[in-house]
Amino acid sequence: MTVLAQGARGARSEDVRRGNLSTLLRYVHVHGPTARSRLTAVLGLNRSTIGDLTGELVAAGLVREEPGRAERVHDRSSSSGGRPSYVVTPESERVQVLAVDVGVTHLTVARIGLGGAVLSRIDRSYRRGARRQRDVTATIGKIGAALLAEVESGAVLIGAGVAVPGMVRRRDGQVRQAPNLGWKDAPVGAELARALGLPVWVGNDADLGIRAEHVRGAAAGVDDAVYLSGHSGIGAGIIAGGLPLGGRAGYAGEVGHTVINPGGLPCHCGSQGCWETECGEERLFELAGRPLGGGLAGVREVAAAAVGGEPVARAAIEHVASWLGRGTANVVNALNPEVVILGGALEEVFGVAGATVLAEFEVTALAAPQEQVRIVTPHLGPDSTLVGAAELAFEALLSEPLLELGRRTAS
Ligand SMILES: [Zn+2]
Repeated sequence: MTVLAQGARGARSEDVRRGNLSTLLRYVHVHGPTARSRLTAVLGLNRSTIGDLTGELVAAGLVREEPGRAERVHDRSSSSGGRPSYVVTPESERVQVLAVDVGVTHLTVARIGLGGAVLSRIDRSYRRGARRQRDVTATIGKIGAALLAEVESGAVLIGAGVAVPGMVRRRDGQVRQAPNLGWKDAPVGAELARALGLPVWVGNDADLGIRAEHVRGAAAGVDDAVYLSGHSGIGAGIIAGGLPLGGRAGYAGEVGHTVINPGGLPCHCGSQGCWETECGEERLFELAGRPLGGGLAGVREVAAAAVGGEPVARAAIEHVASWLGRGTANVVNALNPEVVILGGALEEVFGVAGATVLAEFEVTALAAPQEQVRIVTPHLGPDSTLVGAAELAFEALLSEPLLELGRRTAS
């Protein structure tokens, strides 16, 4: 038997309490308003402990409690037999983050409350073309300031999460390389922290797509899943064994630059025949005879034309769909996921040429991993990445609710 000194025992019970606060807050953040009786069952704690924990979170302003419907837990024949179970609800208006989704042809900045509610958002569209990182940072700063001006006094801004289509160094939010934006070694995290006056966390768009879909979307409850982000290029966000797979510095998942067609088209990464040269947005526009750089709206226009019977659009969609099926097979052969989520432009291609994608996938993927995988579209639609950026910004608070809140209210 381990005998703990008095101080050590106190320290350990304090750790347990902090862990329970984190688990409880995370649960209501993900699942929304939850009856205390449900929390006792989910967390495996007794009623008075749950009461104490929710009391602490209420006092901190992170959740509120309201009387819920009476639960008839006692004598069913007695009219007063039910007792009200308080419902614990995240304080969405009071505790917020900024979420930023930087794309090649779009920029979205949103205020997102605890619990995942989008409180307000501003969307901008661009034509494809080199956009200087400093200009983008300045635009985000301006839009962010406009959104922050709406925040009521008394609310707490925890920080900002930023999604970028590129390789992001985990430790400091430096964008090492974003080929589709033309950025190299861009200090996005540091510059935005200065511009917004908030802590800033930066992540790769596909990594944040799978994060959101894993927390509250098509991969909820799934331990092995891949989100393929199709915006200009293609990137993979990977959950393996229940944990994000980022590689040593965070650069894993650049599946768009796996060579799928040796001797094929030149890629802007400097190689040739990369997967995204055959099924990225730009290839679709080129084959469909559309101007390059149309973004998601342009992909939707080609998809609609294909459905409407335009032969060139149909052929372009079918070409891209075949390569999408082949490349997805490579991903499934390498990672044996339970779910593959096709996001962005890939969702549109799958929507109108799903049979072609699946036919190519079936002849290319190995039988064993193929039996276990479902190919699906995102539950969060085009907002997976934006929601994932918010989840990234909430993470410190969810891990250490009172400590992180104290930091933010002191600053
Ligand atoms: Zn490439």
